Parts: sequence; structure tokens; C-alpha cells
Amino acid sequence: MVEAFPPAPSAREDVVFQIDYPGCIHDHLSCSRKLLILLQFFYLCCTMFYVSKKIRIAASHHLEVDYPTKCARPHGHNYEIEVFCKSKDLDVNGMVVDFKTIKERVTDRLDHRNLNEVLPFNPTAENLARWICEQIPDCYKVTVKETEDNTATYEL
Ligand SMILES: [Zn+2]
Repeated sequence: MVEAFPPAPSAREDVVFQIDYPGCIHDHLSCSRKLLILLQFFYLCCTMFYVSKKIRIAASHHLEVDYPTKCARPHGHNYEIEVFCKSKDLDVNGMVVDFKTIKERVTDRLDHRNLNEVLPFNPTAENLARWICEQIPDCYKVTVKETEDNTATYEL
């Protein structure tokens, strides 16, 4: 037997709900306790921590493409990269991801390098964005800006 929801405002604190489950398990909850449980459920399911970090690296590369282009010749970029991470929970240190981890896994491996030598794929901005996303825990999005006008984004 389930009583009408919500109860009349004047009786709200006094109403006790009885929920019948198969197997005759009965649970009696007050209206305010049900609301508290719903809020806790919302908090656990719908809250999220977000962090982002900007990285600037200088690197050279050439592209291996099936059409004639000056991009096939060795050249360099001052890349501006932004890494986005999110997590429902913080780690033991109270972080989504340590910014130092991003520096170690991206900047230290790519800055002042020939990307064709240190990466096992054609180093387009798109491929670079995906690879960076794969290196960082809880990363869900990366933007790689090669020039003022050209940006690639990878998002899970
Ligand atoms: Zn280029």
C-alpha cells in the first residue's frame, strides 16, 4: 500500500510511507527522510569535479599525407594544448589529477622534440589530441592549437 505523494503540507512531517516489495519487505520512511535520500542519490550520481590545464610546447614534425602539401616538409609549431579531466571522486590527495602528471606525461615527452621521432603515428593535430587524452587519467577532452587559426579537438 503506497499513500498519495506528496502529502498535504500540514501533515507532511507526520506521514509515514509504507512501500511493499515482493517478498513482504516493508520499509517505513518519513517524507523528509525520503527527500534526504533523493538528495544524496542526486549528489552521488550527478556531481562532478572538473580540472583543465594549458600546456605550451614547441615541437617539429612533418605530415605523411597522400596529397602534395608544404606540411609534408619538416617544420615546427608553438603548440597550445588544453587538457580537460573530470571525475566523480577525488583521489586520496583531494585531486582529480595532479597537474604535475599532465606535465610529466605530455610536456616532458613532447617539448622541443621531433614528433615524428617520439610518437608512433602521423603527428597531425587530431592524432596528437587523441594520444594526449589517452595519456592522462580521467581526461575526456583535449584541444591542440597548431596556429592561431587551426585547432583540433578530441573528446570522449
Ligand atoms: Zn604542422
